[in-house]
Amino acid sequence: MARKVRVRFAPSPTGPLHIGGVRTALYNYLFAKKHKGDFVLRIEDTDSQRFVPGAEEYIIEAFTWLGLQFNEGTHLGGPYAPYRQSDRKEIYKKYVDVLLEKGAAYIAFDTPGELEAKRKATDNFQYDASTREGMRNSLTLSKDEVDSLINAGQQYVVRFRIEADRDVIVNDAIRGEVKYNSSVLDDKVLYKSADNLPTYHLANIVDDHLMEITHVIRGEEWLPSAPLHVLLYRAFGWEDTMPQFAHLPLLLKPEGNGKLSKRDGDRLGFPVFPLEWKDPKTGEISSGYRESGYLPEAVINFLALLGWNPGNDQEIIPMEELIQLFSLEKCSKSGAKFDYEKGKWFNHQYIQLKSNEEIAKLYYPLLEEKGIDVCLEYTETVVGLVKERVNFVQELWDQSFFFFEAPASYDEKVVKKRWKEESPAQMSELAGILQQIEDFSAHNQEEIVKAWIESKGYHLGNIMNAFRLAVVGESKGPHMFDITAAIGKDETISRLNKAIRDIKL
Ligand code: GLU
Repeated sequence: MARKVRVRFAPSPTGPLHIGGVRTALYNYLFAKKHKGDFVLRIEDTDSQRFVPGAEEYIIEAFTWLGLQFNEGTHLGGPYAPYRQSDRKEIYKKYVDVLLEKGAAYIAFDTPGELEAKRKATDNFQYDASTREGMRNSLTLSKDEVDSLINAGQQYVVRFRIEADRDVIVNDAIRGEVKYNSSVLDDKVLYKSADNLPTYHLANIVDDHLMEITHVIRGEEWLPSAPLHVLLYRAFGWEDTMPQFAHLPLLLKPEGNGKLSKRDGDRLGFPVFPLEWKDPKTGEISSGYRESGYLPEAVINFLALLGWNPGNDQEIIPMEELIQLFSLEKCSKSGAKFDYEKGKWFNHQYIQLKSNEEIAKLYYPLLEEKGIDVCLEYTETVVGLVKERVNFVQELWDQSFFFFEAPASYDEKVVKKRWKEESPAQMSELAGILQQIEDFSAHNQEEIVKAWIESKGYHLGNIMNAFRLAVVGESKGPHMFDITAAIGKDETISRLNKAIRDIKL
């Protein structure tokens, strides 16, 4: 019987989650959902040196914001708990002993100083089949010596014993069969007595096995570890349940030369983290997609297409469709350029796709901050009129402030160009026309005002430009009569009078 699909996202809590990590998690999520499987969050915190407080909470908050729900995890529990590796210490020790008993691993006492000396003496020194005989380990020392060293409190590590010159094949869903020669691998440290903790490699394999993970979908930077992982599965005798690997392409700098880094974000002014992050040591703040005004749906769609495509040029693909369309086979092997401008474009598209009500709810707090007191319904009308002009909710103010307050000043350049000698008289006449309109709908106003302009033989452009300047203060904004219909008759007339009074030629 086929096993139930189970994937995991396994970050190390060493800082804020990089956007590449978010993409990895997203692909795991899409794959799990598509196959009605489980999506597990495992925290890989065995490297106590690199642990950063707050990082795990940050990771969980980021996925909550993005709407990527885990089925099991440190914050949720689940049938394979605990999900934090530092809470699983005892488990790993047992598996280290299994490898030692099988002779697949050995104990090594070489001190950092001794290793350093070897590295100095030998170019490209590697602890492996060709050198281990010359080192201080349980292969070269007698059992009594080993026992007495351990009893005397000597620190040691456990190393994986890798046979030289064997073919190791990594079966990768994206890259096909990737062949390695075992001689390129060193006898990796699996466990350290000093802190009683396994290293990443051992904990990762043991947990993937115990948690019945079926697919390991992760960044390309882990591909070089994969042959070692294959050998570990073999050493334990777990080949039959070895997960299918899939190594995702790198996210590249916008220029395409090399891996995307935080520095690229700083340099070009875009976030590389999902949420804002404050470094607990330095206090340095890094910007996040959430705080920069991105909609989670837009971030998801943008990231989904960085390394995968549905096989055609469809770009707007909401979550449900992404789940249906996603497949590892359609992931690309080559790196994906991080096109930040495209991210903005996606945000623009998702603002258009959302209802005016949803966007108004996001805009409302900004209005409150400015002390503007309007109802949500009015905000919705305004949003409907201007949202096609913005990429971000924050940009709405600049495109719509005149719906909420009269212009405080008039753009000088526009005044010079649009406010003619006859404008005050014409605007005063216009105010009189508007005053008499009962039905102040945009359509009705337009009909009456245009008829008046025609009957007087005025220039349509001149009238409308001066009108806009009086109502908006500049020459921008949506359809003029949509603005006046929204702000109402009294406000429109009062702005005309104010302009007649205040604009000096
Ligand atoms: N802890 C590793 C990381 O930080 C996990 C890599 C893997 O998925 O095996 O990405």
